[in-house]
Amino acid sequence: MSIVVEGLLKNYGAQKAVNDISFSISKGEIVGFLGPNGAGKSTTMKMISGYIASDAGRVQVCGIDFSVDPINVKKKIGYLPEANPLYLDMYVREYLDFIAGVHKIVDKKKAIEDVIVLTGLTVEAKKKINQLSKGYKQRVGLAAALIHDPEVLILDEPTSGLDPNQIIEIRNVIKTQVKNKTVLFSSHILQEVEAICDRVIIINKGKIVADDQLKNLQNSKSDQFHVRVIFQEIVDVALIQNLSAVVSVNSISATDFLLATKDPDIVRKQLLELTIANDLNIISLQTESNSLENVFRELTQ
Ligand code: ADP
Repeated sequence: MSIVVEGLLKNYGAQKAVNDISFSISKGEIVGFLGPNGAGKSTTMKMISGYIASDAGRVQVCGIDFSVDPINVKKKIGYLPEANPLYLDMYVREYLDFIAGVHKIVDKKKAIEDVIVLTGLTVEAKKKINQLSKGYKQRVGLAAALIHDPEVLILDEPTSGLDPNQIIEIRNVIKTQVKNKTVLFSSHILQEVEAICDRVIIINKGKIVADDQLKNLQNSKSDQFHVRVIFQEIVDVALIQNLSAVVSVNSISATDFLLATKDPDIVRKQLLELTIANDLNIISLQTESNSLENVFRELTQ
C-alpha cells in the first residue's frame, strides 16, 4: 500500500474537523477525495503530508510509519497545498532550484529541466512567478511538488480558481504526465473527479461516507431512482415531500426538484395527480440515471 490512514482524528477546539477516518490507497491509484467545503479534505491531506499533527490515528506512506520516520515519509510525498505558497518575486528556475535544494537533490539542473518539461512550463520558464497566469503558477506548484520524483502526490484542489482552459491543462498534466505515481487529489467539483479518477473517497463533516470505484458509485443504490420535475410555477416543496412514493426531495430551485424514489412510475402518476389537484403545469419530467452527482448529493446533504 502507498498510503494507509487509520483512525485519523483532528479537532479544532470543539469542532471535529476530521473524525476517525481510515482508508488505504494502492500503488499507482489515482483517487479523488471529494466533499463539500469544510468537509475535512485539506485537514486530512495536511496530516498525511505531515504539515499538521493529528490528535489520534496513524499515517503510513510507502510502508513507513509517520511517527517512526517522518523525514523519510516526507521524501516520498509531493504535496501541493490548496493555497499554492509560491515566492512570487523569484524566477521560475530560481524557485525550483530553491525547492531542489530543500530536497537535497544531487543533480539539481537535470531535475529542474525535467520537471519544467513534465509540467509544460518551458515557454514561461524564464519569467518571474508573479508575471505568470494563475494556470502557470499552478504548474510551478505542481513542478515543485514533483521535482524530487516522489512516489505519492497529494494535490489539494489543484484546479481551484482556474478558468476552464487552465483546468483542462492542469488535469491533463495530472492524468498524462504523472505516471506510476499514487495520487490523492481533492476537489469539491464532481466532474473533475469523474474526469481523472477511477476511485473516489467521499468525505462529509469529517467522516468518510463512501469509498468505492467510480463506476460502482455511479451504479450504486440501484433500488433507488431519481425523477427530475420542473414546474412552470413555484411549488411548495412540502406538497412533493408528502407524495407516498417519494423518499426524499432536493430543491434545485423553487420550480425545479430532484426526487429520490424506489418506484419512478408511481411518482410520475402522483405528480400528475398533484398538478391537476393544484392547477399546476409541468414543463419537464424525466427519470435520471444514478449519476455521481446524485450519489454525492444524497451522501453529503
Ligand atoms: P475542506 O478542505 O474539505 O474544505 P477543511 O479541512 O479545510 O475542509 O476544514 C474542515 C473543518 O475544519 C472546517 O469546518 C474548517 O472551518 C475547520 N478548520 C480548518 N482549519 C482550521 C483551523 N486552522 N482552525 C480552526 N478550524 C479550522
